[in-house]
Amino acid sequence: MNPHARPESPSAAEPPLSDGEVDFLWWFIQGSLMDADVRARLHAHWGLCRRHSLAFFVVESSFRPHLIHGCTILYSELMQRAMRFLNDEGLHSLVPDRLALHFLRTSGPCHVCDLGYGPASAGNAPPERLAQGRDLTNATRFASENWAGCQPFICGRCAGNDSPSLCRPHLVAAIERDGSKGAVAQRERIRTIAAHMHRFDNSFRWEQRGTDTAEDRGALIAAIGWCSGWENLLAGPLHDLSNSAMRTQPERASGTQRDDSTGEPE
Ligand SMILES: [Zn+2]
Ligand SMILES: [Zn+2]
Repeated sequence: MNPHARPESPSAAEPPLSDGEVDFLWWFIQGSLMDADVRARLHAHWGLCRRHSLAFFVVESSFRPHLIHGCTILYSELMQRAMRFLNDEGLHSLVPDRLALHFLRTSGPCHVCDLGYGPASAGNAPPERLAQGRDLTNATRFASENWAGCQPFICGRCAGNDSPSLCRPHLVAAIERDGSKGAVAQRERIRTIAAHMHRFDNSFRWEQRGTDTAEDRGALIAAIGWCSGWENLLAGPLHDLSNSAMRTQPERASGTQRDDSTGEPE
């Protein structure tokens, strides 16, 4: 096996999407995302687990490369949810750590895992649809074209470099370890992602079409990474982009350790 080959799966450490996962997510993007109970579960879990949050993006971008609307709606809502917390409770030293942790932690299982879909699930969809659904080409192109909008937000702990950006799971771990004080620096990043997601979501309205920028579109990837962690994104659609970025900034990548401990189960 060629060690330099691109991973075919959303994560090099994980098997590719199963027939059952692609089949389910194909139906999911057709409308079950709009179900109120499903939306409530997605909000409680900050989206889906790492594997399935990437899978949702990969499947939707493979079938609708210019209309990744389901992901955009969900992640715009989740970043607005994060913003409401910042506005109502703040994320500062006066907020008890337990309140910040209660808000930032997931509750309930991943919706897709809970329905029993995983790497071994069978599906009944036509083979062409299954092959298209697990193809990373469109997701990788979207990431490449909008790299400027997501790169600044890649979590240093997930990537194993000294970037001060933290994903939500690593923010939870940081608060558990050091309290809320260290988390204050994340506020502006969360606000920026939320603002760009809002603009991207608005650009799907007819009268706003064409107003989105690379920063707005890239915020979708930043929001997925912030909510669920970046590990699978970095092993999948961002693999080549992040490796070439590290090659141009060797001093940032050296001497740092990847830290996968996030303080919450995946
Ligand atoms: Zn899952
Ligand atoms: Zn992280």
